[in-house]
Amino acid sequence: MMSQSMQDAFNEQMKHEFYSSYLYLSMSAFCEGANLPGLAQWMRLQAREEVVHAMKIFDHLLDRGGQVRLQPVGGPPAEFTTARDVFEQAYRHEQQVTASINQVYGRAVDERDFASRVFLDWFVQEQVEEEKTSGLLAEQLRMVGEDRPGLLMLDRELGQRRVGGTESAAT
Ligand code: MG
Repeated sequence: MMSQSMQDAFNEQMKHEFYSSYLYLSMSAFCEGANLPGLAQWMRLQAREEVVHAMKIFDHLLDRGGQVRLQPVGGPPAEFTTARDVFEQAYRHEQQVTASINQVYGRAVDERDFASRVFLDWFVQEQVEEEKTSGLLAEQLRMVGEDRPGLLMLDRELGQRRVGGTESAAT
């Protein structure tokens, strides 16, 4: 059985993961509208992955006899300026998610909730990957700048991403 404060922390984190999914879906829609279907596809898969993150927490709560309390998920921004803006925001967002995972992790350590600590190890690792990938893409979009052929090339490359293939099509 999990402490109430640990349950609260996980329910809060689950909300962040669902919000991430909402945010990336909104970014996907923007990219589609900007005639960048590859970036849109990449973001759409990223949105799906965030639901998987949320569901891992959902299952952990249930496995430990905790209570799932789904919270209202805020609406993400719908307006973005450029593809570069989208990926820079995604990178900043992942940095915030890392900070919030670290807080939950800290609570698990403080409460000596070792099962939760071990469970959260996966998230800590995942955030390293998420920050690396989104940071790299933001940087590559900065490099591309106003270069249209460069942008189209990157769009084609990111369009190769398939379910489960986070890393390969990121670079
Ligand atoms: Mg996530």
